[in-house]
Amino acid sequence: MKDHHVPAVAAEPAATIFDKILAGQIPCHRVYEDDHVLAFLDVGPLSPGHTLVIPKERKAFLHELSDEAGAAIGRALPRIARAVIEATGATDYNVLQNNGAAAHQAVFHVHFHVIPRRGAQGLEIGWAPRSIDHADAADLAGRLRALLGQSD
Ligand code: AMP
Repeated sequence: MKDHHVPAVAAEPAATIFDKILAGQIPCHRVYEDDHVLAFLDVGPLSPGHTLVIPKERKAFLHELSDEAGAAIGRALPRIARAVIEATGATDYNVLQNNGAAAHQAVFHVHFHVIPRRGAQGLEIGWAPRSIDHADAADLAGRLRALLGQSD
């Protein structure tokens, strides 16, 4: 009988085009690199300066990243954002990070988009807020705190 259990964390994510960039097998417009992080311009920019920031660790989804890779990305992102806004003259920008095909992920290697907003150029967002149900929210927040090892 087949095992239909799908693990939340894939053991060995498939190689993607970003591995080839990391290995220097295909070119990129590199803007930043350290031991754990690479950043380069997106080939299909939503606006000039649209930059991708990726961990060198090969993981498909944000929740799979090691603490070390996550910390390195967190350290690099504000620095890269500062450079992007200074170089492009944009004052406004979005940071976008997609996980899963239904969430618009096309390349299954974790990446953060830094997308300057210049007039009409930049990220278009569909945003349809609903009213919070406070009873459901209290239950959900409690379950999240438990999963995150937080006290009630
Ligand atoms: P996502 O939909 O979040 O997975 O976005 C993937 C992004 O990777 C897209 O914005 C693509 O334009 C970008 N991309 C794909 N291949 C390359 C490449 N070889 N160099 C730079 N950016 C790329």
